[in-house]
Amino acid sequence: MFGAWSPGEDVAKLAYFGLYALQHRGQESAGIAVSDGTRIVVYKDMGLVPQVFNESVLNTLRGYITVGHCRYSTSGSSVWENAQPTFRATPTASLALGHNGNLINTLELAALAGAPVGGLAGRATSDTDVLTALFAAPAAGSAIEAAAPAAGSAIEAAALAALPLLRGAFSLIFMDERTLYAARDPQGFRPLVLGRLAAGWVVASETCALDIVGASFVREVEPGEMIAIDERGVRSHVFARPEPRGCLFEYVYLARPDTSIAGRSVQATRVEVGRTLAAEHPADADLVIPVPESGTPAAIGYAQASGIPYGQGLVKNSYVGRTFIQPSQTIRQRGIRLKLNPLRDVIAGQRVVVVDDSIVRGNTQQAIVAMLREAGAAEVHVRISSPPVAWPCFFGIDFASRAELISGSMSAEEIRQSIGADSLGFVSLDGLIAATTLPSGRLCRACFDGEYPIAVAEAEQGKHMLEEAGRSGRRDRLEGAGAGGREDRP
Ligand code: SF4
Repeated sequence: MFGAWSPGEDVAKLAYFGLYALQHRGQESAGIAVSDGTRIVVYKDMGLVPQVFNESVLNTLRGYITVGHCRYSTSGSSVWENAQPTFRATPTASLALGHNGNLINTLELAALAGAPVGGLAGRATSDTDVLTALFAAPAAGSAIEAAAPAAGSAIEAAALAALPLLRGAFSLIFMDERTLYAARDPQGFRPLVLGRLAAGWVVASETCALDIVGASFVREVEPGEMIAIDERGVRSHVFARPEPRGCLFEYVYLARPDTSIAGRSVQATRVEVGRTLAAEHPADADLVIPVPESGTPAAIGYAQASGIPYGQGLVKNSYVGRTFIQPSQTIRQRGIRLKLNPLRDVIAGQRVVVVDDSIVRGNTQQAIVAMLREAGAAEVHVRISSPPVAWPCFFGIDFASRAELISGSMSAEEIRQSIGADSLGFVSLDGLIAATTLPSGRLCRACFDGEYPIAVAEAEQGKHMLEEAGRSGRRDRLEGAGAGGREDRP
């Protein structure tokens, strides 16, 4: 997710390159919205950023404010209607919005907004669409309309009134015709940072996106804060008391290694976790290899601390998407063999320690152990740089149900047998937390210990709750198209 307010810049190209740096956060669809001060135009489609955009498309996106998004679905199907930025036009203003996270009171918000809820062809079915409806068109007489404070624009006022009602994970970047906004939930589950350009401002999911567009890091958007950026500069609104519980899994897998979170390099954290893993689960072995690429820093740390030589034993096809981020089990299983290939000369006859970042369903590790044995490994010792993922996430990672998580029902020894390894070791939760240098009370670690920072009852209705609600007729209002902008479907 990326946004910029920068007069004089080709902001669509800034968004393009920013999204390129953030492609790892979502690979299902991509979109860019721009405003020239009077009109918002949105272009989005299914696919990776370079599949959706080319020079001629970007040249049609003229303006000085932009919001870009690459989607990884955790609410609603992976279809064009749910691609972001979302768009709403009202008689007085238009809104384009990108969301990273997952709301857990979506049905309640949909009722409040009188929002459309899916189940019919051509209708969006994501939590993001519901919150877009809330921001763009608070229902007459609703709590939001009544509470709307006197702020800048109508969108700004509606957003400030609606934000305290949202529950769950939401890092947002949105805009009306003249102002760029960013907001973060009180827990700050997902990262969101503010950067400075020579003549403008950037907001992005990760600091690596600031680097690629030449922006300098200013600060994080704080948990419970909304900022507004226009010709007057950056204005800050606190809409809720901050209760920081940043996602621990960002350090394990999601964030890029060249990103910093809360002032701590993700790469440095992962190397430190590898060192801890070597101390907690030593192995009598000849070679340490990573599962590229998110296992690489921890493998380096493991090799450093153990004194066992480090080598590359698996080659990754960089053009195949991350396996568990794909939406269906069928694609996941096919994806594993497409993605990795062993280097037989390196592995044959060796007692190998293979370091991976996490075990979610166990499919990947089972395939890797089998591949390494086929390549001639004498022994395969699996080391995992996170504790067992035993609980689902309701805050923006699609781990699905506890039943699908191998650690939800199996012990470490049962998992070792299931994946066919000679030994298996997970880093401890304390070891992982210590590597972040953050106090444990500032981190969400629910997928590891089941201690959810906020209650999750409705979230357990699942990713497709709006589609199911729509089919069952629980919501019956269709959206009305407004004026003042354009949303392009290729
Ligand atoms: S449950 Fe796990 S993946 Fe989800 S926000 Fe918490 S730490 Fe992150």
